[in-house]
Amino acid sequence: MDALHAKYPFFEGARDAVANASASLPTLVAEDAPAVERARERVERALLEGTVEPEDGAFTGTDGRVEIRSELLSYPIARILVSLLDSEPAIEKYAAAEAATALDRLRTDLDADDGLRSTPTPRIDLDDALEEFGLANDVRAEPTRGSREPSHYWVAVGPYLRFTSPSWGASWRLVNRALADGAVRVSREELLEVLGAAIEARVREGLPFELDADEGIAPDLESRVAALKRLLSERTYTGPIDVVAPALFPPCMTNLIEKAERDVTLTAPESFALMAFLVGIGMTPDEVVAFCADTSLDAEGIRYQTEYLRDDRGTQYPPPTCETLANYGICHNEDDHMRVAPDPLSYYETRVEEADEVVDWREEHGIGGDESGSNDRASRSEQPDEKQPNGEQPSDEQPSGEEPDPTAN
Ligand code: SF4
Repeated sequence: MDALHAKYPFFEGARDAVANASASLPTLVAEDAPAVERARERVERALLEGTVEPEDGAFTGTDGRVEIRSELLSYPIARILVSLLDSEPAIEKYAAAEAATALDRLRTDLDADDGLRSTPTPRIDLDDALEEFGLANDVRAEPTRGSREPSHYWVAVGPYLRFTSPSWGASWRLVNRALADGAVRVSREELLEVLGAAIEARVREGLPFELDADEGIAPDLESRVAALKRLLSERTYTGPIDVVAPALFPPCMTNLIEKAERDVTLTAPESFALMAFLVGIGMTPDEVVAFCADTSLDAEGIRYQTEYLRDDRGTQYPPPTCETLANYGICHNEDDHMRVAPDPLSYYETRVEEADEVVDWREEHGIGGDESGSNDRASRSEQPDEKQPNGEQPSDEQPSGEEPDPTAN
């Protein structure tokens, strides 16, 4: 079984590999094979954390045959689970997470291909990826001197319009692009984002699908589907706290910000955790870009990630739990405060509630104001003046008790 198929399970070749696998999907499900549990993990992490990488570390394709087989077969089973969840927003989030994970893997492959690192992992190059999505003839590299990798490419207008969206930002609008001979100029990173959109469309295709009642898969997966639904409905995220007080951030987030300020590139889980936290405390994409202006995080990447994380009512993804961050080496559980709260956002909320006076970073720096109703933001620094004569806070300053459906857009 080809490890590349497990690494990129939405490739056409991977479908054939699944079709030719020794056991059918109904049999695997009935036997509760390891691929079934990995599929559940895939969906759970997609919905809650925006990635489908295994919890215990990224899949590289250098694992044993059993793990490779399990990784490959978990993909079609995950698609069955997502279909059974019967939630359009869940499908969108799942497809986006598969695409985000695949892009991370592709970037790692390309770094290796550039000679920046030496690794024996099975990998693809950019031409393979373009070929897979029928883009080989639609993308040409800008000539470079010597053997350097091209920094820019020209993408035919048709595919460019098909796979990009003006909602990605003004810089993606055709009017703001160099255009020549029916092709649009993009940077290498932008080309990867176009590929990400192609991957997402491929994953999204055909979901949800009806299961053949005779196969018996749905009853065998019933408990896992119920657990996923329960997990989603039990999320008690109450909406952004909407105050930015860096001095009260939990140590994990402070460490990540300081690391980025030293111009060190954050890993994908680190960047995801930080963005989810900043969005979770109510920051808009513009505010996050301003907040991270002097760091290794680039504005385009921040916008892409924060807009993915954010929905109309705030954040769709609470930051990963302390336990998950500990597994990634992001949390060092300073002062054993994992006892205080299960995730960085809860910990921060506790600190804000306990603080005597909190000055919002955005107000200090004159940032934000009208996006997503932030004019309504209550300045914690003003709280003492807004107390009622009896010393109690006015009730409309309390965080909303509304618990949005985390699967809803
Ligand atoms: S215990 Fe939680 S909040 Fe504290 S540093 Fe670790 S991950 Fe952050």
